[in-house]
Amino acid sequence: MRNDQHRTRPPLIELRGVDRVFDEEGAVRTQALADVSLVVDAGEFVCITGPSGSGKSTLLNILGCLDRPTGGAYRFAGRDVTALEGDELAGLRRDEFGFVFQAFNLLESATARQNVELPARYAGLGSDRKAQRAAKLLESLGLGGRLDHRPAELSGGERQRVSIARALMNGPRVILADEPTGALDSGQGEEALSLLKGLAARGHAVVMVSHDPAVAAAADRRIELRDGRVAADSLHDAEKPHTPPPGGAPAGSEGQVGRPAAMASIGDALSSLVASPLRPTLSVLSVAVGVASVVALLSLAEGIERKTLEMVDATKITVNALGRLKAAAVQLAPEDAEAIRSEVRNVRRVFLSTKGPLVLQRGAVSEDTEVHATTRAEPVGIDQQDWPLANGAYLAAEDSELREQVVVLGPTVAEALFETGVDPIGEHVQIAGIPFLVKGVLDQSPLPAHSELSADMVEPMLAMFGDVAFVPFHTGLELLAPHGGEPETLVIGDTTFTSVVFGPLTIEARVADAAAVRETAAAIRDLLIRRHGREGFNVAIDVDRVEAYDRLWRLHPGVQAGIAAVALAAGLLGMMATMLVSVGTRRREIGVRMAVGARRRDIAVQFLAEAALAALAGGVIGLLLGYWTGAAVAEMATPTGLMKVPVAFAGWFVPVALFCAMATGLVAGMVPARRASRLDPVAALAGD
Ligand code: ADP
Ligand code: MG
Repeated sequence: MRNDQHRTRPPLIELRGVDRVFDEEGAVRTQALADVSLVVDAGEFVCITGPSGSGKSTLLNILGCLDRPTGGAYRFAGRDVTALEGDELAGLRRDEFGFVFQAFNLLESATARQNVELPARYAGLGSDRKAQRAAKLLESLGLGGRLDHRPAELSGGERQRVSIARALMNGPRVILADEPTGALDSGQGEEALSLLKGLAARGHAVVMVSHDPAVAAAADRRIELRDGRVAADSLHDAEKPHTPPPGGAPAGSEGQVGRPAAMASIGDALSSLVASPLRPTLSVLSVAVGVASVVALLSLAEGIERKTLEMVDATKITVNALGRLKAAAVQLAPEDAEAIRSEVRNVRRVFLSTKGPLVLQRGAVSEDTEVHATTRAEPVGIDQQDWPLANGAYLAAEDSELREQVVVLGPTVAEALFETGVDPIGEHVQIAGIPFLVKGVLDQSPLPAHSELSADMVEPMLAMFGDVAFVPFHTGLELLAPHGGEPETLVIGDTTFTSVVFGPLTIEARVADAAAVRETAAAIRDLLIRRHGREGFNVAIDVDRVEAYDRLWRLHPGVQAGIAAVALAAGLLGMMATMLVSVGTRRREIGVRMAVGARRRDIAVQFLAEAALAALAGGVIGLLLGYWTGAAVAEMATPTGLMKVPVAFAGWFVPVALFCAMATGLVAGMVPARRASRLDPVAALAGD
């Protein structure tokens, strides 16, 4: 007797009094299966028949551990399946069951070989063995020449053979086929049936569902369902003896159970993205826009920082007496400069300068000029730019001590006083009635490199800076003395402004060690207080300008972080929305993956990996976009039109941007990944 045979080895499939009631909220209660008991063993080829709605698919889903009974017992190879957790059921599906679907359910973006390999991915099989085995299976099913074809390039019969190969990939003991011939013409259908029959002969238990009596006739045993109950079972009816083939089960599973399939999931994510690159486009763009905003913001911050540093000479200390109108004002003298040079540590050089408006004259021509009296022996323009000579030589170091009556003319003055073709060098000009020998002529005034003036500002600025003349300090001091300390007045309309912020003399000290510039400035202050008895002067260091400039331009870090966060959040929501839609349209794929053994975690990892990869792509595009935006902004003038917007790109933006992208992707991917992994396999397989 059959039962005696199984006393030592439990049957492969054993259902006892299985019920399946669909009792979802808001839906009609349906008893799809009622008190179903049956035993199926290795080598059997069973067809479940019955009219539509009789519970055939429900039974098959329960047999394949895609669904659970609501009552009764299911033992697989003696193991109580009803007690198993989700991951254990997934493991059972992966190792013991192969599914063949009416609609094939192949992944459209994958080749025949990749489709067949799919179950092995979740079993953690090495990629070489996986590829070999998939190719061998496809060859054995006559598809050796179709390994790299995608489902769309295959006939229905070929597709069904690919899906049979996939069902066999992990060497399952049971093959479950729901209407395997339903989508095939009769010739292809017969071929599929004989393949299934062959599998049973090789020791697999094959359970097929069909409502077609002609198909059912191909099976060795027919179980007829009516209203969820077993109405007839040809085995019991005929008491046909069944002999399992020797050895019982077919070639066992080659999967190494328990090995993490995370790498496979990431690989799947990659090939899924590569195979249909348009699908994640919106996700990629969402992240790209967010990252681009962050990069643009960083570029502005970086540009401001660099420009500020460019403007600064960290070795410079400037001392000015307060203007005469200030009660505390002191008169600075050249002796103060000498004291600073000789007494204050870290001071390397000291320059003296003063300036004032004087008239330069040659013959009948006169020119209002700003005359600088200086001890400097190198021409410098605005912000310490070198100011090249067009002609002749600059003032010499000893010119000041010797009170030489020499002058170096700025380009605008030289142009005004000398006709073209006349070399000013060696000629004389009158300053306040005193003849000065023209020693040199400066080239066009160099504008500071960082000013990046807009084009229409350049000409007037050059003219303004060019209207100068330089004379030796002591020579000039005498000429300028009448102006010294006089309040400069400015009349605008009815109002007269008296502006004497500082006295006329400027002492500029240069330090050797820029790091100690603050201490040196403090020492100069102390020295001058000692010399003058009060703080009627101002000691400024260039470094302080950095902060002033920063305050002018830089957004508060909190505001900056806020803008970045909003941009990234927008990208995140965009990505999340498109990914959620994608989960909806890929239900069938998710169902297939679950059927072949993907655990919920594997599905979640795959969607997260897809999100991360899309985000990475978005990060790269966002970087380029942000760089390009920054470059475009850098061409624009500030609202005052005085200079261009400072924008700069730094190498460290790259890791920051990619990190932001990754974080955005992973957070955005979490909800869709969770939703995908929580899908019910049966509902997912039912499709979109
Ligand atoms: P068959 O495959 O024999 O056509 P099914 O097993 O698909 O039948 O369905 C059996 C019964 O269970 C049907 O009445 C069907 O409407 C019901 N049913 C199947 N799946 C669900 C479900 N997820 N929710 C509610 N009812 C369901
Ligand atoms: Mg059905």
